[in-house]
Amino acid sequence: MTLVMKFGGTSVGSVPALRQTAELIQQAQQTWGQVVVVASAMGTKPVKVTDLLLTGAKRALAGDSHTFLDVAEQLRRAHYELIDGLLEPEGERQAALAENDQFIDRFVALCQAVLVLGELTPRALDAISGMGEQMSVRVLAAYLRQLGLPAQAVDATELIRTDAAFQSATPMMAETIRLTQARLGPALAAGDLPVVTGFIGATAAGVMTTLGRGGSDFSAAILGQALPAKEVWIWTDVDGVMSADPRLVPAARTIPELTNREVSELAYYGAKVLHPKTIRPVVENGIPLRIKNTFNPHHAGTVIVADKPDGSGQIKAVTAIPDLSLVTVEGKGMLGVPGIAARTFSAVARSQANVLLITQASSEQSICFSVPEAATAAVISSLEAEFAHELQRRDIDRIWAQQPVGIVTVVGAGMRGTPGIAGKIFSALGAHDINVIAIAQGSSECSVSLVVTAADTAAAVQHLHELINAT
Ligand code: ASP
Ligand code: MG
Repeated sequence: MTLVMKFGGTSVGSVPALRQTAELIQQAQQTWGQVVVVASAMGTKPVKVTDLLLTGAKRALAGDSHTFLDVAEQLRRAHYELIDGLLEPEGERQAALAENDQFIDRFVALCQAVLVLGELTPRALDAISGMGEQMSVRVLAAYLRQLGLPAQAVDATELIRTDAAFQSATPMMAETIRLTQARLGPALAAGDLPVVTGFIGATAAGVMTTLGRGGSDFSAAILGQALPAKEVWIWTDVDGVMSADPRLVPAARTIPELTNREVSELAYYGAKVLHPKTIRPVVENGIPLRIKNTFNPHHAGTVIVADKPDGSGQIKAVTAIPDLSLVTVEGKGMLGVPGIAARTFSAVARSQANVLLITQASSEQSICFSVPEAATAAVISSLEAEFAHELQRRDIDRIWAQQPVGIVTVVGAGMRGTPGIAGKIFSALGAHDINVIAIAQGSSECSVSLVVTAADTAAAVQHLHELINAT
């Protein structure tokens, strides 16, 4: 049975964190037999290695010949500290330092080239930004070897084949499966412990790519599918996905189990815990995905599983998106006129605004949608230009925005087909004098979203969260 375990930046970001990480790996190997480790670049504040690498390269592009040298020193120091603190002088310490220096030198050379050429292609950005993972896995593997584990650092360029969309490459799974099984299969069978770089892959020509920021979670899922693994665990620095933002709701707690669809409904909010692309490769292949806390390992965390029938009526989470406005296009002349909605959203798209929620009642007298507050003025002028004629003829009476507002979303697949949930939601808000400005529920019935004023957002989340235990 193979377990894929991914460790985030904080889990490899300091000497104590790495000791803890190594202990978790050791335990997992004893229990599971075959373990594949995936690691991010060091990412403990103030040194977030990927950010530093990108800053150095971008400053070089701007003609700054100093910053990347400062960055190189910061990177050297951060990795030295780990190597010094973990590896014994009579062991691999010297070799690890020398190997790490080679990466730093390469970073400096690449930044110098950027400075001279005055050009920073997406391809060069990937070659530079992916180095953080190449450094961290080598330190981690060396430390695991010192503890007596048969660890070997592996660059995912050998395993994950991608297209050439640098900065946000897409894995080509058939080839990735073939490469991964050919490379890791025999290693695991021989008892080895592969320690693989997150975040990176390579094109068919062998050119390094990255999967997008935060992409190490995705790497673990890709390898989990490719092996295939029995489970994929994402070790991070929180206990899992919470039922609400604990800063808003002190009673928020970790959700033990979420389905695929529930996680998708958490999107914006859940993305802070897990890279959104992580779920599909594993969960759709029946591989459970578990989120656990490196610094609180006995906590069970959150497990994400495939969708399943659930008539429990249960609400699992309440989330909020702040700083929005609700734009309304209204007029009696809109009734039965085809194309108004299409023209509305084309006009919004031209203003580059992202639409978060849409509602229209069957009277067709108005269309409402929410956009980020900062985009409101641009959206309204784009709409006024589009509908200049209709406004003049009074077919459309008004285009206006209410702001600031927030969207509060109640999530739970158990709400599907369970009558009475909407009633409970509106009673809870009504009992606390919270006015609901607009409502949206998708036909999946896994979530209900409500627009309330910004001033009411926190209270709405708090009171709806009280329903979690009550349902
Ligand atoms: N190191 C990469 C980043 O910071 C990938 C990751 O941490 O998941 O985006
Ligand atoms: Mg992450």
